[in-house]
Amino acid sequence: MAEDVLCPFCGCLCDDIKVEVENDQIVGVKRACKLGSSKIRGHERTKAPMVRKDEELVETSYEEAYDRAAKILKDAKRPLLYGWCSTVCETHKKGILLAEEVGGVIDSTATVCHGPSIIGIEEKGLAGSTLGQIKNRADLIVFWGANPAEAHPRHTLRYSSNSTGMFTPDGRKGRKVIVVDVRETRTAKNADKFLLIKPGTDYEVISALRMIVAGKGEIVPEKVAGVAKSDLEEAAEMMKAARFGAILFGLGMTHSRGRYKNVDNALSLVADLNGFTKFVVMAMRGHYNVAGFGQVCAWETGFPMSVDFSRGAPYFNPGETAACDLLAKREADAMMVVAADPVSNFPRATVEGMAEIPVIQIDPFPNPTTLLADVVIPSAVCGVEAEGTAYRMDGLSLRMKKVVDSPYPTDEAIIQNILDRVRRLGDDN
Ligand code: SF4
Repeated sequence: MAEDVLCPFCGCLCDDIKVEVENDQIVGVKRACKLGSSKIRGHERTKAPMVRKDEELVETSYEEAYDRAAKILKDAKRPLLYGWCSTVCETHKKGILLAEEVGGVIDSTATVCHGPSIIGIEEKGLAGSTLGQIKNRADLIVFWGANPAEAHPRHTLRYSSNSTGMFTPDGRKGRKVIVVDVRETRTAKNADKFLLIKPGTDYEVISALRMIVAGKGEIVPEKVAGVAKSDLEEAAEMMKAARFGAILFGLGMTHSRGRYKNVDNALSLVADLNGFTKFVVMAMRGHYNVAGFGQVCAWETGFPMSVDFSRGAPYFNPGETAACDLLAKREADAMMVVAADPVSNFPRATVEGMAEIPVIQIDPFPNPTTLLADVVIPSAVCGVEAEGTAYRMDGLSLRMKKVVDSPYPTDEAIIQNILDRVRRLGDDN
């Protein structure tokens, strides 16, 4: 039995998982939620490397797959290296080296999830905390545009509303929960106060709350975004009365109208509330190591995502250098996808852009992106078949364990092999 295994699925990065192993096979998973258990137990794998020949993907050797991948990246004028959030930081470091070597653009899945949150945080600053602080101290939790009951199933029990901690021994009974969302989610059903807002009105609602918190409630109309002023006043009072409050926001806030400005405004609300009590704010990150890519990319390049190396030095300008920008404008002429599935998540116009260029996929599992790929390189599952470092949604770095051996190379080794070949091709020219 492997103890204290980290779950390689969502940003909670639960570190208390037990995995039963017999004859180097996983036969049982304890404590993980269904999402995590399914990832750890594994499902259909890509059995061998493949390259596209005569419109068909055919099995090949790793050596040929590395050669083809290196040539595609080396020949491209504007290669895009995308994904990275379901693999470990050691892979990120190699990926950034590879992007620099080929003068490409490197971007992560944050670009289509909490990227606007990061920009909002860069503009405003963050009154942050660890999940441990929230578990041990928070007596008010606000889930805004977030539904952990479905997306982060153990979050409430381990870290937030339903957890018990040093100064929160009564768990859920000792805490108040506010949910702000555009529909009554499972998380909302368990809230003490639910604010059902109209879609795309987060900015207005945050602004109204800020006015009430600041004592300027007389300028707030009787109804804001479908919410009665009295409900907003009640929520504002709950926030001010908390000993330690936390706003945990999800894509519902980040991807509604206003985007990073919503986050910017929410961070200002938290700053305002710190005039009355202790309040913190955190993004509910999705993939287990999306926070890790932001960290590695920031310390290597100065920027957290969407970094363009074509000028010889890192350049960052989302709207110009994000993955979807390059694909929609047909700038990218080759793409490498690592531990991600953009075909399932990107807008249609960008997927059409992917279909027009050579695509390299590195992933343990087949997914819709495989259908477009010209080179497919299967890898070991990080956190199950390979160890490495990952960052939890609160920015805490944790070491992921290897539980069983794998016949597949690690993502890190695959990127290193491609990088070596790219460099050799450069020497030959
Ligand atoms: S909550 Fe997230 S990290 Fe924890 S077991 Fe479930 S999927 Fe894994």
